[in-house]
Amino acid sequence: MNNTEILREISCAHETAWVNRDKVSFEKESKCLALNGEDIAEASARLQRFAPLIERLFPETADRHGVIESPLREISGTKEKLSEMGELPRGRLFLKCDSHLAIAGSVKARGGIYEVLKHTEDLAMAAGLISETDNYAVLADHRDFFSRYKIQVGSTGNLGMSIGIMSAALGYQAIVHMSADAKEWKKQLLREKGVIVKEYRDDYSRAVKEGRRLSDADEMSYFVDDEHSKDLFLGYSVAGERLKQQLDQQGITVDEKHLLFVYLPCGVGGAPGGITFGLKQIWGDHVHCFFVEPVQAPCMCISMASQKGDQVCVQDYGLTGKTDADGLAVGRASAFVYKMMKHVVSGIFTVQDDRLYQNMKLLKEADDIIIEPSSCAAFEGYTSMMKYKDTADYCRSVMESAEDAVHILWATGGSLMPQQIVEEYLAKG
Ligand SMILES: *Cc1c(COP(=O)(O)O)cnc(C)c1O
Repeated sequence: MNNTEILREISCAHETAWVNRDKVSFEKESKCLALNGEDIAEASARLQRFAPLIERLFPETADRHGVIESPLREISGTKEKLSEMGELPRGRLFLKCDSHLAIAGSVKARGGIYEVLKHTEDLAMAAGLISETDNYAVLADHRDFFSRYKIQVGSTGNLGMSIGIMSAALGYQAIVHMSADAKEWKKQLLREKGVIVKEYRDDYSRAVKEGRRLSDADEMSYFVDDEHSKDLFLGYSVAGERLKQQLDQQGITVDEKHLLFVYLPCGVGGAPGGITFGLKQIWGDHVHCFFVEPVQAPCMCISMASQKGDQVCVQDYGLTGKTDADGLAVGRASAFVYKMMKHVVSGIFTVQDDRLYQNMKLLKEADDIIIEPSSCAAFEGYTSMMKYKDTADYCRSVMESAEDAVHILWATGGSLMPQQIVEEYLAKG
């Protein structure tokens, strides 16, 4: 299908798949991008400097010495069940469990926490509290200093949780502007941690806009801007080198004969875009990254297929932007991520909400792992790859000269869900 045909499918809220015909070799593209491998290395080093502080504030991170990282698990049971339902692309199947990242229980523990730490380092160095070679754990003794400052963010739920929890732990005044899609339990959890939660009846873009306005008017306040932030993006991109270590440990090589396919749920684009950027730095054209969005909120897909970036929103295509996948309930994509990804992402799938619950239940039954509905969008890229002509052609053509492949579903959230909510979701599946 060409872009016009895809946009027609999208505006009918049909499940569909778009393949990126403008993708170029990553080596060539990387010369034109706003960030590079050195920026990722800097972000990675910063996270290392903060590890002693993280370990002190969050003892649950002690097993990894303050490094916030998630397991990579092979899900053979799930693969077997899925194979009974339709043709799957060739290769082993893994789950990257960012659903179980410490502190925030979602992929936002990468970008969100990184940005709070970066800002903290800037403030603390300017005030002479630390230098780069100090043990940053001392920063836990400066709550009075940080309590003079505010950190604000607009969120559909999980970004607010990661920013809110981290900011509150350091002593900041944290204010989270929540869109209408945010789940009640996420707001409640934040309030219990001393975070101020402001609720909006409008969608994500509105919550971000209000938060940005209020923060900009206050010189003691810092705004984490999901629609433009390079720091968030870099925090996510450190996932690349971490995944490389994990694949190395499991004896898995990625090269021209052994390809890697990664499926990432997409909202505004920062998390899937940043992770893709990190993976591409390591494996270049041997890794193929696909995003997945809800049929009512495919903001990145319309940005790409229309080639209009953030000049278009899902409402322009007659869609509501409403979905049970709260983490993906975004009507307008990030212009920055659009630019970073337009020649890099392999394609984008869209998925209906009911499929999320079915796959949540299937993963629980087959491999006993619980993740939230938004996370389950990742399944759609893998299970529908061979269903659509365009993606099947893509997959067959890149696999032609390869011996095998590894597929990774990126589970983006879920471990903080209350038990009762989990049961409601499983019942829906
Ligand atoms: C935020 C989020 C995503 C997508 O991240 P974006 O940066 O908004 O694209 C995916 N899954 C979950 C669970 C999320 O919370």
